[in-house]
Order: sequence, then structure tokens, then C-alpha cells
Amino acid sequence: MENEEKNRFQIEKRMNRDFTLNKYRELCIALCSHGYTVCTVADYLENHHSEEKIVILRHDVDRKLQHAVRMAEIEHEFGIKSSYYFRYNKSVFNPASIQRIADKGHEVGYHYETLDKAKGDYKIAIRIFEDELVKFREIAEVKTICMHGNPLTRWLNRDLWKEYDFRDFGITGEAFLSFNDIPYFSDTGRTWTNKHKVKDYLPSAEPDCGGYEAGNVLKCTDDLIILLASGRIRSAYILTHPERWSNGSVEWVISHSMDMAVNLIKTVFGLGERAQRC
Ligand SMILES: [Zn+2]
Repeated sequence: MENEEKNRFQIEKRMNRDFTLNKYRELCIALCSHGYTVCTVADYLENHHSEEKIVILRHDVDRKLQHAVRMAEIEHEFGIKSSYYFRYNKSVFNPASIQRIADKGHEVGYHYETLDKAKGDYKIAIRIFEDELVKFREIAEVKTICMHGNPLTRWLNRDLWKEYDFRDFGITGEAFLSFNDIPYFSDTGRTWTNKHKVKDYLPSAEPDCGGYEAGNVLKCTDDLIILLASGRIRSAYILTHPERWSNGSVEWVISHSMDMAVNLIKTVFGLGERAQRC
């Protein structure tokens, strides 16, 4: 670490700031030092991993693409390959930056939101899906896809696959629908608990709350690191949103304030109360 970065690291430690890139580095160290094999979504679905301890690492890039680039570089330092799902919008769809991430060996996936874009019209939604998928495939091979979940829209984008089959588009898996029976941890709502998660849950966890037990007690990234270090879980599926993880003080304060504002809106509208119901 450079001196400047070391100083920042010390300051953060004193302030105990969470969701910084240095904290993310600590998470990477924990994964590597406690014997977890880290893999991408596509790798997990395609290969029947027999490792004793495995973590699927996924990132949903909703905005601030440069944060994803920095996160991908940190992972590369540790030899970690993960999955990055990009939205098709002006601030995220930048072929050069996406290529930079792909060049580090990470998986490039498509973070689709076409039912939202089509305002619930399935026929329009599948056409948008097909067009946008082509754009991503001009940059990198795309094997898997992942729904974007906007808490303020009435559509669940993954419902598209109630009418259509993603395999018809050469897609091998969907980041929510293709998984079950694996502990799922997400930073949505700036917490690893299930609070403030409106659409961000594995469908398999819905009928009962078995898969949520661990996710209701992890308030900060240190808690997740302690859980991984304890060996109490042999496998995990971890999601981050790179825009949430920043080192600069101003960026961090803005990101923190935005998350708090969104959480307040969710609370006012009674959204994201799944955890409490469980
Ligand atoms: Zn998203």
C-alpha cells in the first residue's frame, strides 16, 4: 500500500467507516485467508465445484462505473475473479471500462431492467432485452444475466422469464432464478441484514425464511468477515453494489446520505419489510 493509502486506512479504522474500498480489501483478504474458493456466477453454474468452502462473488453496477473498475482491480490483486453485471444506460454502458474489467478475467453480465423500461409490456420488454444483450456481446462474452431491482417500480424484471426462456438467448443462468439453498448476503440498503431489501432476495428463500437466518444479524462488513472467518458457513453468495464503496471522504458522505435517504423512502412507503415479517 502507498503511504497516502495507508494513512487513509488508519483514519478509516479510527472512524470505523464501513463500505470503503479499504473495507472491501479486508473482505477479499478474509475470503482468501480463510480458504474460500471465490468464483463467478457462470463458473459456479457451469462447473460442479467440489471445494469444501466456496463463495460466489457478484457485483451489480447500477451507476458510477469507475467504482466497479477500482473494485475489479482490488480483486485482481488477490487473484479473485467475480461477476460484474452492468445496466444499459448512459452512465454505466462504457465499452472501454467494461472491457478493462473483462481483461482482468472477471465475468461480464447484463443487468437487465426491461420490464421497467417497457412499463410492464412483455413483448416490448423482450425486444429491448434482445437489443441490449447484443450491445454487451459486442464487448465480451455474456453467459449470465441479472435482474436490476428498482424498489420504486411495480414490476419485477425477472418475471420476464415467466413468459420467455433466457436459454433461447444463449444464456446459461439468471443471477436470482438459477440459485437456491445457498446463504445470500447483499449490501443493498447499506446493511448486510435483510432490512431494506425490496426485490433483492433469492426466490427460493421466499416460501420460508430459512435462508435468511444469517442475513438478519450481519449489520456491517466486519460482521460478515467474522462469519466467514468462523467457518460456520461453507458456502455463500455475496452481492455488492460498487457505487456504495468509496475511499474519498466526500464520495463516502454522499453515498452514505443517499443510502439513508433511500432507506427512509422505503420505510415511509412500507417497502423492504421482509426481514421483519420473517
Ligand atoms: Zn441493480
